[in-house]
Amino acid sequence: MKLSRKNLHERTDQVYDAIVVGGGMGGLSAAIYLARYGLKCLVVEKGKGRSLWMQEVRNVVGVSPDTPGREMLNHGVQQSVDWGADYLRGYVEDVVDEGDHLAVQVKVGKVDSVYPVFRAKYLIAASGVIDVLPQLDDMQNVYDYAGYTLHVCMICDGFDMWDQKAVLIAGKESQINAAFVLDWFTPYISVLTHGLCTVGDEMRAKLADYGYPLYEAPIAKFLGEHHKMSGVELTDGTVVEATTGLINMGSIYHNQYLKGIPTLEWDGENLVTNTMCQTTHDRIFAIGDLKQGLNQVSVAIADGTLAATQIWRNIRRASPPRRWEE
Ligand code: FAD
Ligand code: FAD
Ligand code: FAD
Repeated sequence: MKLSRKNLHERTDQVYDAIVVGGGMGGLSAAIYLARYGLKCLVVEKGKGRSLWMQEVRNVVGVSPDTPGREMLNHGVQQSVDWGADYLRGYVEDVVDEGDHLAVQVKVGKVDSVYPVFRAKYLIAASGVIDVLPQLDDMQNVYDYAGYTLHVCMICDGFDMWDQKAVLIAGKESQINAAFVLDWFTPYISVLTHGLCTVGDEMRAKLADYGYPLYEAPIAKFLGEHHKMSGVELTDGTVVEATTGLINMGSIYHNQYLKGIPTLEWDGENLVTNTMCQTTHDRIFAIGDLKQGLNQVSVAIADGTLAATQIWRNIRRASPPRRWEE
């Protein structure tokens, strides 16, 4: 059932088997499995997540390569709700371990917010990450290209940059190293720092050796039309010609709500899990981009399957057998 501020009170006095934080690729996969195991589950999704910005998902078997992330999300929500999952648009602010249960505090509505608390035996952290984008006064100019011809994921979209003139946008010197991987797909790389970092002599020499120009002035705007880049104009008036680009400025991890759980083990900002996506807390699973490993749709979907199945096993093994009784 779709929940909203009008009907959510119907669910605040029950205990879910599992609450899934984040209704992206991994979370919706988990919800489909949980629901089909007959478990009571709730998906909480804030909106504007990473998979929403995928314009064409070209590397998932059986999915037509012009399929946008938005369409996969719409299907996944419909499918999970049809099988019996609850789905709520809201933002998970905190999770408190109450022993037998986890209490999940949600903010519903950006204005006139309400703050329900839902309880569950298990939590699946499926809240992913979001890529840091270059900040311009006019963010719409960035959004016009980001996810279209200005990519954020080399594994996803390197193929679509093949032998094109490309900009690599980095915010730290270490992020420039992506140039020496991107060269597999194209060697025509101009490195832009958007004025965010200084570049040492060693890196300058390496870039010069590969023939990759370095531009250190901030970006004024992206040039092009209909989401197709033609270049980048810098604040010093320079125009760098490029039909594609890669933003490699790091990620924001959607993990704040877990920071109060002391027993979780982290690898940087990623959660450490076992092969069934269980974290170092028995009742908390982590899937997709938020856990260690490859940030890909196919991986997140498989993770959702594993986490939901392990939760089902745990609950089933703790339940009495069902006997044929009249
Ligand atoms: P997501 O799909 O990002 O789902 C996490 C969800 O959690 C989000 O919807 C977010 O809104 C929600 N959330 C976060 N915090 C909270 C909170 N506190 N409360 C409630 N909800 C919350 N991968 C591919 O395999 N192929 C591609 O072609 C491809 N192209 C991409 C193109 C772009 C432009 C981008 C940005 C990514 C691309 N990716 C691609 C990567 C892919 O999007 C991710 O690997 C995948 O979505 C990860 O799934 P996930 O479930 O871990 O995270
Ligand atoms: P969030 O970080 O999602 O939320 C901020 C705060 O708002 C939260 O802390 C919470 O208090 C509150 N909140 C959020 N959701 C809810 C909710 N459902 N209920 C109650 N409170 C809530 N963004 C765009 O807007 N347009 C684009 O065209 C666009 N294109 C992108 C392209 C790419 C390739 C990428 C990687 C990202 C893109 N983004 C785009 C995403 C953008 O970078 C931000 O992540 C996003 O806009 C942040 O959304 P937000 O303001 O809801 O902030
Ligand atoms: P497969 O998809 O089986 O691919 C292996 C391929 O290798 C086969 O096409 C085979 O012909 C070929 N092959 C084998 N030996 C050789 C050889 N020596 N030389 C050349 N080719 C060879 N899973 C779900 O997730 N959801 C479902 O709803 C679901 N329903 C199912 C319903 C049925 C009736 C069946 C039979 C399975 C179902 N499954 C379902 C399970 C699913 O089919 C498998 O888990 C999945 O296909 C495994 O993928 P795979 O690539 O490992 O193997």
